[in-house]
Amino acid sequence: MGENLPVFDGERAAELVAELRTAFGSRRTRSYEWRAAQLKALARMINEKEAEIMAALYSDLAKPQLESFLHEVSLTRSACLLALKELKRWMKPEKVSSSLTTFPSSAEIVSEPLGVVLIISAWNYPFILSLDPLIGAIAAGNAVVLKPSEIAPATSSFFARTLPEYLDSSAIRVVEGAVAETTALLEQKWDKIFYTGNGKVGRIVMAAAAKHLTPVVLELGGKSPVVVDSNINLEVTVKRIAVGKWGCNNGQACIAPDYIITTKAFAPKLVDAFKGILEKFYGEDPLESKDLSCIVNSNHFARLTNLLDEDKVYGKIIYGGQRDEKRLKIAPTLLFDVPQDSLIMKEEIFGPLLPIITVDKVEESFDIINSRTKPLAAYIFTKDKNLEEKFVNTVSAGGMLINDTVLHLANPNLPFGGVGDSGIGAYHGKFSFEAFSHKKGVLHRSFGGEAPARYPPYTPQKQRF
Ligand code: NAD
Repeated sequence: MGENLPVFDGERAAELVAELRTAFGSRRTRSYEWRAAQLKALARMINEKEAEIMAALYSDLAKPQLESFLHEVSLTRSACLLALKELKRWMKPEKVSSSLTTFPSSAEIVSEPLGVVLIISAWNYPFILSLDPLIGAIAAGNAVVLKPSEIAPATSSFFARTLPEYLDSSAIRVVEGAVAETTALLEQKWDKIFYTGNGKVGRIVMAAAAKHLTPVVLELGGKSPVVVDSNINLEVTVKRIAVGKWGCNNGQACIAPDYIITTKAFAPKLVDAFKGILEKFYGEDPLESKDLSCIVNSNHFARLTNLLDEDKVYGKIIYGGQRDEKRLKIAPTLLFDVPQDSLIMKEEIFGPLLPIITVDKVEESFDIINSRTKPLAAYIFTKDKNLEEKFVNTVSAGGMLINDTVLHLANPNLPFGGVGDSGIGAYHGKFSFEAFSHKKGVLHRSFGGEAPARYPPYTPQKQRF
């Protein structure tokens, strides 16, 4: 933010919301044509500015190019194209059957835009986590303010510079900034707040929203467990866990595997396989690997090294552990049999450290998971169909994936969101459209079909109907 710009305070936030209310009040954003034009422009922006987007992501996170392309650019483009393709269908009122009590009548559910909405986004996937909800908000016909994360400044400034070139600035705005600016925004009355980030700030957002009875979507995090049975394809299992952990921003991903639970008997085999795969993926000196993201900043670096240096955990590192503070690099690190009451098992790791804990029987892992706050994702690797079914029916989590990690996020037919401490609400595909729409129930009647029993004077005979 330039020094000469006026401070973005409550007064400016109120002016901004008033301008957007005028735009929304004009009813322009409700038309199919406006929504489709904005989505087309967004898709064009992604195509024309791909190199700039990739450079911004590299500058913010040193993300490997392939990860930036697949996880941010390509998935966002697909979400935008899907919304364009399906928009007419999503907007169409849904006919529902009538009931005997309301006979004769017809009934439908009409999706209407909520109004002026606020999207607050996080740093770890700064491109897709901003545009994916924006696509939903536009598709649903709202006026929108996007507040990207200040911790990914290059991507944030890309949005501030570029979105106005492509989108209707009278109804879609970007506000850059950190706590002060977000606080000024949160003081305003919104028709929905969509927040992605940690649960501590999620509570601040929800408290601010409650003052105005504003509904929220909170896309939060948590400790996503991976249960590993012994009845598996070991090499495929380990590769899929590794790519979901270190191949996703070096563990700085909301659904990255946070810890593994396996049996005492199987653990040595699993650990050996991990050592082999990690060396194959990232070489003998992983700090030099170009295929691993950096830790985003020195605060997060200190937080992660603090988890490793805790007395209870010291000596439990069985692979990795190397770090380079100057370059903000931490190697893929495996920890074995860490105590459940250690810091690393208490908070979301959000980095390249992966503890493995052991149980006598694999089913015991379900109780361990359910005794903790509900995770955003839960994974199991097994060929045992009964165990798989028990996992799905016993474990509570935002989403689940059997025999792989993170990929469920890429299926737009599945709602993506948390439960309990991992969040409120969901999005992706049609669920994004619904997250920013009000489903209005509408009953149509004519003047015929009178039922005298409805009207006073009430008599015992009428009550019999
Ligand atoms: P962050 O630091 O970028 O913060 C998120 C947003 O909150 C930013 O826009 C920031 O400006 C704003 N913010 C920060 N402090 C604030 C305050 N005091 N008042 C008002 N606004 C404030 O991101 P983060 O929280 O470090 O993100 C990591 C967390 O987010 C992890 O827990 C991760 O699991 C979760 N996450 C969830 C998803 C999901 O889709 N569910 C995706 C990514 C990250």
